[in-house]
Amino acid sequence: MKLLSAVLAFIAILGCQKPESHAKFVFYFIGDGMGLAQVSLAEAYLADSKGKIGSEALSFTQFPVLGTATTFSASNIITCSSAAGTALATGVKTNNGMLGVTPDTLDLEAITYKIRDAGYKVGITSTVTLDHATPAAFYAHSAYRNDYYHIAVQLPETGFDFFGGGGFIQPEGREKDRTSVITLIEDAGYSIAYGMEAFEESRNAQKVVLLQDKSKNYLDALPYAIDRKEGDMTHEDIVRAAVEFLENENGFFLMSESGRIDWAGHSNDGKTAILETLDLDEAVQVAVEFSRKHPEQTLIVVTADHETGGLSLGWESQYNMYFDQLAGQTASIDNVLASRDRDMVLNIREMNKKSRIGWTTSSHTGIPVPVYAMGTNSHLFSGRMDNTDIPKKICQAMGIAF
Ligand SMILES: [Zn+2]
Repeated sequence: MKLLSAVLAFIAILGCQKPESHAKFVFYFIGDGMGLAQVSLAEAYLADSKGKIGSEALSFTQFPVLGTATTFSASNIITCSSAAGTALATGVKTNNGMLGVTPDTLDLEAITYKIRDAGYKVGITSTVTLDHATPAAFYAHSAYRNDYYHIAVQLPETGFDFFGGGGFIQPEGREKDRTSVITLIEDAGYSIAYGMEAFEESRNAQKVVLLQDKSKNYLDALPYAIDRKEGDMTHEDIVRAAVEFLENENGFFLMSESGRIDWAGHSNDGKTAILETLDLDEAVQVAVEFSRKHPEQTLIVVTADHETGGLSLGWESQYNMYFDQLAGQTASIDNVLASRDRDMVLNIREMNKKSRIGWTTSSHTGIPVPVYAMGTNSHLFSGRMDNTDIPKKICQAMGIAF
């Protein structure tokens, strides 16, 4: 009998699975407006710059796991960024124009709150303003996505550890008669770092909001990569700062948005979209570098909220792309529009056509978006899914009940 139980115990040990490991350091990159065409265009542009026809892989397109996510909202086959952000942050669909609430305006809980309560540090960053749809979906609730002040004042109430990126669209409210959100953030115990140098001095702070240097338009979105001047903050800078600030033995979650791929799509500006996508890739490489230090514990997910522009590689019965036609473009269409140089805008539009970059709309499209994943439990992100599945899978990968 004794022998039998010893044998059974031995068999049990043999059959015993290694305890399931959970992701402890999680990166969730969202390229706003980054469909498969935006990624493919950036890869074709890179290949062309090396004199090759084809596709030069970005860091995240080499991730071992690839899936697709449907993006429709509760109200429309073509989502807006706030409904998509809500799906990606809370796992629930809502109507276009709504943020962090159900279609009947009940508050939804973003995974950031569950993750914080499970003992992880939490960071939210964007290359556009922090009250914009995608970052805001991870901390705020509003029946109207354009109610920027109402959204911004919810940021200091979160207690999340790190915010970084552009500032706020209406820091003192629509009528400029409210307490500045900057004051509210400081009153809540956050240290505000204006620029990377100031960030160095804020490292020992409890909680940080990293904005651009005060000598820049620090309350605006970061400049496009194509318009960048020396000393401008980059997406990569923000992710580096976030990782330095958030790294701790209990783990962290970082949502990092590249917000202006979408804006370039709305403007049908091919080269600007390409350079923004390459810029996101630089930021993702910071996470990949980090994962080499913690290969058993890091999960990186890169996806998009929707596609913007109905972008195509190829236009009007041609089987070639002519990227050399873009060589003369040194500024984004949005920047040139701001300087009221209409001739230059027409010139850039002509360059897009000659390069055979095609666009079908100046709005979003309803095509599914790619989902790239690597690291701990990345297998969860393989195959077809809906955008609402992604936050659920992230919680599952982290061992957090959804
Ligand atoms: Zn958009």
